[in-house]
Amino acid sequence: MDMSGEEDCIFCKIVRGEIPASVVFEDEQCMAFMDIFPVGQGHCLLIPKEHHTNMLDVDLGLAAHLGRRLAELTRAVHKTFSPDGVLNVVANGPGAGQEVPHLHIHIIPRNHGADFGFRFPEGYRDSMAPRDELDRLAASIRKNIPR
Ligand code: 5GP
Ligand code: ZN
Repeated sequence: MDMSGEEDCIFCKIVRGEIPASVVFEDEQCMAFMDIFPVGQGHCLLIPKEHHTNMLDVDLGLAAHLGRRLAELTRAVHKTFSPDGVLNVVANGPGAGQEVPHLHIHIIPRNHGADFGFRFPEGYRDSMAPRDELDRLAASIRKNIPR
């Protein structure tokens, strides 16, 4: 657990009730609330109550719990707004676009043609990666997966 900055962490403050939030639900381990700057109607965030920076340091048992709650929340958001689709987005680290350093998963309803979304760069399918390179990369990641 990353204890640095927990005192000042905006999401820890929400968990402690020190600043207001529009809470969707909470249980012992996690909490979901509406994003204060929604990119679209229904944009909410799922967080662990305990302070972890992101997926790189979160306790794995807690990650499993969040996974289940994420599926439930995503279905609830879909049922509520009937969008064309729902994005689940997690930025792990500033390089990935993480601004609030407390693990959070975005749940964002999205309709066709919306002016936001996860996009690959133009032309990325121009050439397929060579199989031997993909096999080599898969093996190097596999080495770091716990058995
Ligand atoms: P990130 O860029 O770190 O993935 O996303 C952080 C998200 O937290 C942003 O979508 C931002 O709108 C949201 N956010 C930042 N401060 C607050 C806050 O005080 N309350 C709520 N509800 N959302 C916040
Ligand atoms: Zn925090």
